[in-house]
Parts: sequence; structure tokens; C-alpha cells
Amino acid sequence: MQYEFCSPRFIARPYWWGQTPPDEEADDPFLADVDVLIVGSGYTGLHCALQTASAGLSTQVVDAGVIGGGCSTRNGGQISGEIKPGLAELGRRFGAEEARAMVLEARAALEWLGDFVADNGIECEYRRCGRFLAAHSPRQFRQLCAQARNQPRGLERSLQPVGPGEQRNEIASDYYHGGLLIEDHCSVDPARYHRGLLDLARARGAAVIGSCRAGAIERQQDGFRVLTERGAVTCRRLLIATNGYTDGVAPWQRRRVIPIGSYMLATEPLAEGLAERLLPGQRVYSDTRRVVVYFRRSPDGQRILFGGRVSVFEADPVMALPALREELLRLFPELENTPISHAWMGFVAYTFDHLPHLGREDGIDYAMGYCGSGVSLASHFGHRVGRAIVAGSEIDSAFTRGRFQTRPLYRGKPWFLAPAVSYYQWRDRFS
Ligand SMILES: Cc1cc2nc3c(=O)[nH]c(=O)nc-3n(C[C@H](O)[C@H](O)[C@H](O)COP(=O)(O)OP(=O)(O)OC[C@H]3O[C@@H](n4cnc5c(N)ncnc54)[C@H](O)[C@@H]3O)c2cc1C
Repeated sequence: MQYEFCSPRFIARPYWWGQTPPDEEADDPFLADVDVLIVGSGYTGLHCALQTASAGLSTQVVDAGVIGGGCSTRNGGQISGEIKPGLAELGRRFGAEEARAMVLEARAALEWLGDFVADNGIECEYRRCGRFLAAHSPRQFRQLCAQARNQPRGLERSLQPVGPGEQRNEIASDYYHGGLLIEDHCSVDPARYHRGLLDLARARGAAVIGSCRAGAIERQQDGFRVLTERGAVTCRRLLIATNGYTDGVAPWQRRRVIPIGSYMLATEPLAEGLAERLLPGQRVYSDTRRVVVYFRRSPDGQRILFGGRVSVFEADPVMALPALREELLRLFPELENTPISHAWMGFVAYTFDHLPHLGREDGIDYAMGYCGSGVSLASHFGHRVGRAIVAGSEIDSAFTRGRFQTRPLYRGKPWFLAPAVSYYQWRDRFS
């Protein structure tokens, strides 16, 4: 199904795959016995593999679909180093010291990722561009100003309120009521970053195999035997890195993550000068709504990539497209005649406490639940798990402390999602 606003070149797959299609050619040899088996070939899995393979441990990554075909090659390429709960709320839950450690670790993950990309010469359009966080109501703008004024001591960073009068320097839209400029946030081409990481992991000796779903896990005296679509694999250590795609391979983890679809579109290149006028700073952008929208220009500056959650039920990305485009036009009515070239979606993983989690359950390592902000944290968590496996130690992270919660009767199918999204949309209208 196509719409009159789609371009003749319209395709229902990630914009990023045009330049960096998934690697379906390479055929690493399948290994039946390894030191480390990793299920999931996104940033989490590959960063772990990079550590373990570099240390000389035989390492195999398997993925049910195309390599990197989960969120890691289809996201918005906005990098924040933020976690959802604020310091005060974390302090109430974990105590002041632990709360600080979590906030600092998430921020450090952002810095670390920039260094990682630079040190390894990964060409992926990584830029420290800053974020414009747009206020969807005057009240939200006042809260953003208060947030900038009252930063916790020792955790200050550059937050600059931008009043409604100056807003057009950041975004040519009257939809918002000012916003906050967060200078340290970054942007990336997510698929090129993933490809660079994949090449690096393979160069260090990791085998990465697509179209190879992992199924039942059997415990053995010295590790695990995992049945996969290509055959059984025995391994000493096992990482579940499946995030919003977690299935029956890991029932304990599946009961703890809530898969939620996030939807994106790309426009065709805009008329000469229009992209520059709409989003002059070429930053990353999101807003203060609970049911958030996020957007940016493409790395070449010519298109707008726009994402969010527009339906209460999961939908095909093409079916969700009219509502997503409506949101885009609400911000930028000038785009009425700009054709849409791409639409796609993917499953992010939320958690019941709004925090990402990593740890070890029954001897199996896991890292997941990035709540839609996984570019830096998935990379960082995968790295930390990999280092722990190499050192034979506990995972060094403040995020291992909190209990990974589930809810009674929840088995991984979020029946409560539609009412929850409706409720949050309703609250957005009054906040
Ligand atoms: C549309 C969209 C926009 C987003 N935008 C942003 C953004 O701007 N900034 C940001 O920080 N984050 C964003 N995210 C989230 C971010 O992309 C993810 O948090 C991150 O990529 C998670 O990486 P991962 O390696 O943990 O999981 P994924 O990359 O999702 O990989 C999990 C893999 O596990 C595989 N798998 C599952 N079950 C099995 C099995 N049984 N056997 C084998 N393989 C299995 C899947 O096939 C999948 O490839 C976005 C996500 C989406 C969908």
C-alpha cells in the first residue's frame, strides 16, 4: 500500500540501509564449541564480542535475522547518555551515592563512545551536535528552565534555555514554547557505526552468523549447550543481547522487558535551502511529551528523519505512516508537498523501573532494557560485560544493583500497552 504523499522511490526499510545495507554476503564458519556465545548482533552483542575476541577467547555471535537487523541499524542516531529517572527519584530508590553513580556512568558512556569511534577510526558521521529539547507547553518550558538553574552540585553541564522569542534560531516551528539546548548530545549514522563495529569484531576473530535463531539452552557442567538453527553450540559463557527482540530463548529476561514499536520516516531531499531554514543548527531534536517525537536532518543535511510512536497498537510501518507524517506536518506545515521516501520501525525495550539492566541470572549474562536510548548504553553495557567475561570477575557497573523487575502474569506480550499509550497521550495534553 502506498499513499499519494510517497515518492516513486518509496521503500519500507530504514533510510540508513540505502548507504549501508545489512551484510548478508559474509558467511563466517559456524563454530560448534566456543568460549563465548552471544545471542544478538546489535551494539550490545558486538561490543561484548570485541572484548572477548580481542582477549583471545573464541567468540561466536548468532542472530535470528540479518546481522544488526534489530534496532542497531534502524535507530534515529541520537546519542544522549541519559537515563529516564532523574537524580532525585534514583536517590529515593537507591540512595544518593548509587544514584550519582548511575547518572555519572550513563554520562561517561556518551564520552566513552565518542572516544571509541575516534580511536578506532570508524567513519560514521559521529558529531557532537547538541540537542534542542523542545517544550510542548509553557509549563514544560518553565520546568526546563528550573532544571537548567538547579543542577545538582558536581553534575552540572551546559544546559541553555532558549525562550520562545529565540526559538526560531533553533527550529522554524511555532508548535513549541521554547526549549533547552543540551550541548553534549551527539548524532551518528547508526548503520555505519554498526558496520564499523562489526568489521572490528570480525577482524579480532569473532564469528558473526545471521539467520541463526538460538532456541533452547541446556545447562552443562562447564557451561551451556545452546540449540540454534545451524546446530548445537557448547560454550563456557553465554550473553543474551536481544533487547526488544527477546524471545523464548530467554524466558526470565523476556518477562522483564516490554517491547515497544518505534516508527520512523525519511523525506526526500528538501527544496534548496529549506532543511537549513527549518533546522539550522543540524542538531538532534526531541520534545517534552511523554509520547515523544524525535527528529534530525540526515547526515548530508538534505532530508528530515522523523520518529515517534503514533498509534496505540503496533502497526506495520506503512500503516503507521499517515499518522507519523501528520505529526511531522504539525511541526512543519511547509513540508506538505515534500514526498516521503522511507518508512520503517523497530522494537525498543522498556522496563518496569525505566532503567536499563545488566547482570547475570542463573549463570547467563544479559544486558538490555535501554528504554529507547541505547546507542551509547548498549555499546557501554556490551563492553562492560565483555570485560567481565575476560577478567572472570563480576560486571563493573552501577546498573547491576537494582532488581530487574517483572509483574505478575507478564510473559513478554504487553497487553497493557494500548491503554498505557492512550493514557500518556491524554496526560501530554494537560502537562
Ligand atoms: C526506530 C528506532 C529509533 C531509535 N532511536 C534511537 C536513538 O535515536 N537513540 C538511541 O540511543 N536509541 C535509539 N533507539 C534504540 C536503540 O537503537 C537500541 O536501544 C539499541 O540499538 C539496542 O541494541 P541491542 O544490541 O541491545 O539490541 P538490537 O540491536 O535490537 O539487537 C537485538 C538482536 O537480537 C536478535 N535476537 C533476538 N532473539 C534472538 C534469538 N533467539 N536468537 C538469535 N538472535 C536473536 C534480534 O534479531 C536482534 O538483531 C531506537 C530504536 C528504534 C527501533
